[in-house]
Amino acid sequence: MRFKQDFFEQLDGFYSQVYPQGISNPHWLGWSDDAAKLIGLDKPNDALLMQLSANAAAPGASYYAQVYSGHQFGGYTPRLGDGRAIILGEAIGPHGAWDVALKGGGPTPYSRHGDGRAVMRSAVREFLVSEALAALSVPTTRALAVIGSDLPVWRESQETAAITVRLAKSHIRFGHFEYFCYSEKGAPGKLTQLLNFTITQHFPHLTTDAAGYKQWFVEVVQLTAKMIAHWQAVGFAHGVMNTDNMSILGDTFDFGPFAFLDTFKESFICNHSDHDGRYAFGQQPGIGLWNLKRLAQALTPIIASDDLIAALNTYQPSLVAQYVSLMRAKLGLSHDSDIDSTAQAAREKQDLALISQFTVMLENSQLDYSNSLRKIGQIDISSQHSPLRDDILDVSEFDRWYQAFQARVGNVADMAAWQQQRDQHNPKYILRNYLAQEAIIDIEEKGDNSKLLQLQQLLTRPFDEQPEIDDFAKRPPDWGQGLIMSCSS
Ligand code: AMP
Ligand code: MG
Ligand code: MG
Repeated sequence: MRFKQDFFEQLDGFYSQVYPQGISNPHWLGWSDDAAKLIGLDKPNDALLMQLSANAAAPGASYYAQVYSGHQFGGYTPRLGDGRAIILGEAIGPHGAWDVALKGGGPTPYSRHGDGRAVMRSAVREFLVSEALAALSVPTTRALAVIGSDLPVWRESQETAAITVRLAKSHIRFGHFEYFCYSEKGAPGKLTQLLNFTITQHFPHLTTDAAGYKQWFVEVVQLTAKMIAHWQAVGFAHGVMNTDNMSILGDTFDFGPFAFLDTFKESFICNHSDHDGRYAFGQQPGIGLWNLKRLAQALTPIIASDDLIAALNTYQPSLVAQYVSLMRAKLGLSHDSDIDSTAQAAREKQDLALISQFTVMLENSQLDYSNSLRKIGQIDISSQHSPLRDDILDVSEFDRWYQAFQARVGNVADMAAWQQQRDQHNPKYILRNYLAQEAIIDIEEKGDNSKLLQLQQLLTRPFDEQPEIDDFAKRPPDWGQGLIMSCSS
């Protein structure tokens, strides 16, 4: 790893320097070749194992924990910060720089009552989901590796510690801006410094003046809308959309009790602590806007409110447009660029109606979201028989929908190619919670990570038929349906 230290060198006062503490008997549980390439690494080796388990210093690393705050479940916490993630610096790769962070690297000044550690099950989940989302083209932070140990940690019972090595283009969160707005009490020096740094590093096409700031917020709104459009299309529930878990670059970030939908359910809650369903699957688009408003408030000392409001107003149309576009690819609805903007808008509205009729049918029939979409690739559009028809309880409702769908898809010259394209947009394999759970139990009980490796291989190619491990595409067994995860990680 070759580091630069821009955050560390340019943002004194935005972090605390702190050294990670090693975990005993470290061993690789998982390694991502794809993530490694991003920072110019090849295969894992013993020296890296020692560095990434914090048992040896990494040459060129600075080791620091960032300070930020955030709205958690709607209430403001004035100071959070990295309680268990220690950043080494920005590793230079072939296509830019990536922060390298040891999540679970030991206590920091922001650990409050926590031990600064991550338990193996949560580290494994973060590793798997980061790489799974990336393979589905969902904007996300990445995971280079997950390292197991025999260091005991206490949650509800005794478990063992692990470290996830996270790669992020940036660790700057909405909560960073909130912290430097509210802690500086109206003196915008640090807020401006943070914004200038963010623009220079991550939005280099923009200027660090009023015009650039205004456009920057528009782009943050769009990136957030894009990320959430992807979540809704792929059926991903984040579970803890607090503003400290919202990346300023619109990357999915800070994984806890997340879940991919099994059965489609708008009101699905994956987080055991989310009693009111604030972060339920269907609430995510609205919460995205709520979070952007908290960010906008924190920016009022340096960006005009009218400009912030104008940018916020682009959120909903942008999210809908991107969601419809992703769903069109899944369902095989063409995008016509040769019609005027009024016709485009009307088409978008019709398509959105067709898409929501589809998801309502799935919900009413309690069908698996991903597996149902995968069946679109088996449809012969000229035929009245659809493989989905038998699954739907209300057949006449389905027939009405299917007629409208057929009319919208229109004539397809090459049906096999159309079907193949659907399969390239509807994953056969997703990270179902029960699959992650089975991989974790094998590690916990037998020290055997082979299921994790199998799952990783599967999820790196989620669209390809992999018949040798076909069971992984099945709906979960009863015990594994809609698993709700606890926050304790
Ligand atoms: P999260 O819900 O994972 O976003 O965490 C919220 C805050 O709690 C962040 O500031 C974390 O750094 C901190 N935190 C979570 N778990 C621990 C832990 N085991 N030790 C120290 N801090 C933690
Ligand atoms: Mg967090
Ligand atoms: Mg976290």
